[in-house]
Amino acid sequence: MEACLREVLTRSKADYAEIRWEEIFRSRVVFQREQLLALEATEERGGIVRALVDGAWGLAVFTDLDELSKKIEEATCLARTAARHVRDKVFLAEVEPVEDHYHGQMVRDIRGIPLEEKRKLVQNYNKIVLESHPAIVASSVRYADSLRRVVYANSEGTYIEQEVPDVTLMLAAVARKNGDVQQGFESLGFAGGFEKALGHEEKARAAAKRAVDLLSAKPVKGGRYTVILDPDLAGVFIHEAFGHICEADFLLRNEPMRRVMELGKRFGVETLNVVDDGFIPGARGNCPYDDEGVPRRRVYLIREGVLTGLLHSRATAKKLGAKPTGNARAVSWEHEPIVRMRNTFIEPGSYTFEEMLEGIEYGIYACGAFGGQTEFEQFTFSAAYGYEIVNGKIGEMVRDVVLTGNVFQTLRSIEMIGKDFQLRGSAGGCGKGGQWPLPITTGAPHVRIRDVIVGGR
Ligand SMILES: [Zn+2]
Repeated sequence: MEACLREVLTRSKADYAEIRWEEIFRSRVVFQREQLLALEATEERGGIVRALVDGAWGLAVFTDLDELSKKIEEATCLARTAARHVRDKVFLAEVEPVEDHYHGQMVRDIRGIPLEEKRKLVQNYNKIVLESHPAIVASSVRYADSLRRVVYANSEGTYIEQEVPDVTLMLAAVARKNGDVQQGFESLGFAGGFEKALGHEEKARAAAKRAVDLLSAKPVKGGRYTVILDPDLAGVFIHEAFGHICEADFLLRNEPMRRVMELGKRFGVETLNVVDDGFIPGARGNCPYDDEGVPRRRVYLIREGVLTGLLHSRATAKKLGAKPTGNARAVSWEHEPIVRMRNTFIEPGSYTFEEMLEGIEYGIYACGAFGGQTEFEQFTFSAAYGYEIVNGKIGEMVRDVVLTGNVFQTLRSIEMIGKDFQLRGSAGGCGKGGQWPLPITTGAPHVRIRDVIVGGR
């Protein structure tokens, strides 16, 4: 493979060319109520060629390696045509050529596990969800795994083979009482083999229990409160509300936001550190090399409260005078790489949870992320559930906890950062520019924020 790709690239007449060839194994099992909705394994292979001529890209997608030479010519031809019309020329920041092989670790290779064994596991989780309480009326348990094998080569001499395994599990329960319907769920995701999907019986019970508990929880009273986000919700907040606006391709298209996101500007307290990293053992967002063959770098987006970094592809790095960070990622071989997050998290601080509760007369402990929306700097997030905080103690469970605000104001209002920490890969993934679901993780400790607008439904 290596010799063949290198040979084709040396013959290329483009200023720069790259080939990404992928072989992807996937399987999934889905149970809903008692029903098995999906039980399947698929394999696909395909590649993409990018050629750069006079500052313009040409792309060609293919499924047969024998077509490679022809496809490079095609992409080069397209790039040449595009170059005549493109006003915003592309230039690539320099990177050292790399040669490497990387294999993600699987104790039990997902390709070697019979579908029947996967079905049994998922059926058992489903049974636990359904049978854990009489009020549970429905369930949805989804298992998915994949192994993405990527061979990447470019005309500068880089050649990388990577194997990235991925396993996710979604455990969801629906409870009903007197016409009231509530949901509970646990969403898990790992870089690893089948072993990662085992042993989550407690999570299945927790999902069901939460749905049942929410039936007797009272709706939250709307208002402005001091709020403690649990690590799940704080992690989703930092990814959705802040991480996406650190993506340099977005900033290059959004001049007003680019002026706001000025390096060196203070965004929060001195104990606030926000990181995006392409390698943390076992984390779903791992990509030791991105889909432009750039080695991952740990990027401090915020260091000691100050904006110190952005996320880059080679092209955005060149435009903004930065170093490439290894954030150009594609969801699969049919897509070109765009600037994406990897493992994005708030670093732990120094407070215990008890210390964080102290001094709060009335506040909200918001837990789990049920979904959210962001529109530039405005965000709206629904917590999966929550609790009142009364006189420094956790009180009754509340539901319909929706947080809204301005991301910059909210970052400035962070008062305390916990010393606990949790990095979480959930089922599904990040979506952007029609590419979904990209494996990522989000992480944080508990975070206390003053003056947050909490709305009931
Ligand atoms: Zn995202």
